[in-house]
Amino acid sequence: MSIASGLPEGFNPSNYDAIVVGAGYAGAVCARMLAEGSSFRVAVLERRNHIAGNAYDYVDEAGVLVHKYGPHIYHTFDDRVHQFLTRFTDFTDYQHKVLANIHGTLMPVPFNHQSLKLAFGDEKGERLYHKLIMTFGENKKVPILELRKLNDPELSEVADYVYENVFLHYTMKQWGKTPDQIDPEVMGRVPVFVGDDDRYFPQAPHQGMPAVSYTDMFEHMLDHDLISVFTDVDARDLLDVEQTSIKVCGQAYGGEIIYTGALDELFNMDLGALPYRTLDMQFETLDQDQFQPVGTVNYTVSEDFTRITEFKNMTGQVVPGKTTIMREYSKPYDPQSSQTPYYVINEPQNIELYKQYRERVRGLINFHVVGRLAEYRYYDMDGVVASALELSNKIISQQ
Ligand SMILES: Cc1cc2nc3c(=O)[nH]c(=O)nc-3n(C[C@H](O)[C@H](O)[C@H](O)COP(=O)(O)OP(=O)(O)OC[C@H]3O[C@@H](n4cnc5c(N)ncnc54)[C@H](O)[C@@H]3O)c2cc1C
Repeated sequence: MSIASGLPEGFNPSNYDAIVVGAGYAGAVCARMLAEGSSFRVAVLERRNHIAGNAYDYVDEAGVLVHKYGPHIYHTFDDRVHQFLTRFTDFTDYQHKVLANIHGTLMPVPFNHQSLKLAFGDEKGERLYHKLIMTFGENKKVPILELRKLNDPELSEVADYVYENVFLHYTMKQWGKTPDQIDPEVMGRVPVFVGDDDRYFPQAPHQGMPAVSYTDMFEHMLDHDLISVFTDVDARDLLDVEQTSIKVCGQAYGGEIIYTGALDELFNMDLGALPYRTLDMQFETLDQDQFQPVGTVNYTVSEDFTRITEFKNMTGQVVPGKTTIMREYSKPYDPQSSQTPYYVINEPQNIELYKQYRERVRGLINFHVVGRLAEYRYYDMDGVVASALELSNKIISQQ
């Protein structure tokens, strides 16, 4: 692999069989697959000064490995995705756990046996728990809507408690909504876990953290003789999209273009900007070994921030006397700023706008869109890897 900052003088796109825009999961997986599967010479263009997209991690001044764009916890049910990624990294056996800070008490979420006792006291909590076991059985995830349907005042009280203290205020902060703007269907799906397992992804057969780091995993993925990575390059400066053809650096380009950036940006948002939520991430290094007992504590009723992440609790890194934490503040994304668009706002008018942009690249047979920005949808890491594998296999099979 070669990584260079900026394009070399005389960069000639026709020296490459494929141009990949973006060095996050979507772009890096496609680059690797096309280099291996079709012996394509691939140029990866990345506008940031680093690879790995939003999964980028680095060691901060205190020596703590932190995730620059928010905590990333790998988990998947998909064996193909896991097989692919484990070619480039080992994973630790980290099992993610989340606590909610509810009026100063830390309770497991999803709300479980232990949370019931913490919220309602030992005796009542046990009674409620046994009632839940008798009604639903053990180790079941039960949506609060189901609890309400039973017309049992005590179980309705549990549903109300979880709605108010775990879901409502947190969702209002995260999405900037008032209670009446929250979809009752989403609210009804908030689960209570009838059991003791306090892992956030109890069912996922593969989960953990990369043994070294996400960035190291990407370095290995992009380490191939046929792949050249150019950072600090905004592909929009190079691409000219016409109705049925595309130019790169002013020349008609016949190779494959894998585009993982935002489609509205590609067209200078001439139909309007696709809305997102962004996050203000405030990192703080403390002179202590540990700040909180788990990787993530959600602030579900108080504080302006939504959650605090303590990276050492997820990576297992040992750094005596220092720890770095990060608070997340959610707010609307301003497309004219340098903010990062994080969460798609999945509302019908936004999806409609996205479809209009998508329509404009439909006639371009060598232009492929994949990834969270290009598809304007929320993806977990495993989902985007699966989509990129699928797209690359399709391109390879057409050669
Ligand atoms: C706060 C947060 C926490 C998350 N936590 C988890 C988690 O715990 N577990 C999980 O599975 N998933 C998590 N995710 C989801 C995960 O981040 C995504 O699945 C993943 O980043 C998607 O990869 P991607 O390649 O589609 O996009 P990205 O990672 O965003 O990569 C796209 C790349 O394209 C580049 N680019 C865009 N436009 C251009 C251009 N014009 N020219 C050149 N380069 C360009 C960008 O700079 C970027 O590097 C989280 C997401 C967020 C927002």
